[in-house]
Amino acid sequence: MIRLHRFLEEKKLNTSDSHDRLSAESASSTDSNSISLSARGGDSLASLKEGNRRFVHDEARHPNLDATLRSELAEQGQNPIATVLACSDSRVPVELVFDQGIGDLFVIRVAGNVVGTHGTGSVDFAVENLACPLIVVLGHRRCGAVTAAVKQQPSIPSVQRLLEQIEPAVREARRQAGDVDLETLVEIAVRENVWQSISNLVHCSDICRDRLRAGALAVIGAVYDIETGAVDWLGRHPGEAALLE
Ligand SMILES: [Zn+2]
Repeated sequence: MIRLHRFLEEKKLNTSDSHDRLSAESASSTDSNSISLSARGGDSLASLKEGNRRFVHDEARHPNLDATLRSELAEQGQNPIATVLACSDSRVPVELVFDQGIGDLFVIRVAGNVVGTHGTGSVDFAVENLACPLIVVLGHRRCGAVTAAVKQQPSIPSVQRLLEQIEPAVREARRQAGDVDLETLVEIAVRENVWQSISNLVHCSDICRDRLRAGALAVIGAVYDIETGAVDWLGRHPGEAALLE
């Protein structure tokens, strides 16, 4: 039986390319003084990474919370640095996790961070109307929704419909994982569910596909550890090129 730690270590080796791509992307935008959209996306990612580092080390600054800023944003409108699609779980407080404040993040939360019609519409609004350069689909460890889907727990119809959206990710996790314990299977399914949400989003959103093709938008996956507070950055969808064909 493969335990979680070993599986994730093997996964890390396999995804090192995407990590390198992310690092290169961030580095190039940091070096650049231009205000192109791709540079903005890189700057946004760097800000989220740095904010999460502060959060993990109990060095949060809790920025952008004062009354003056509230008034300015109310009058001038919002200009968030990133859109985050996350789970509703109360242990995943998105602004706190990234140490961001008012007006910084456009956040969509739904149990299991699944992408439905309204989720796609919300992301589209942020991309089209707010020119958001970065979308993060944020799953999290020990997700109750993913766990329920893995266990195939019977539930009331509304919850059942939500869990059905996670089931393809669970099937893919079972296919990859083979003989693993429940905890490991859930963790793999959490990652697969992130990829599935990105896939669904790109499939359903014309504007996301257009902006991705133009290099004006980045859509990346991440998994939050509710115990350590750390975000594991997964990078772009491994099949992004195929999704854009
Ligand atoms: Zn969850």
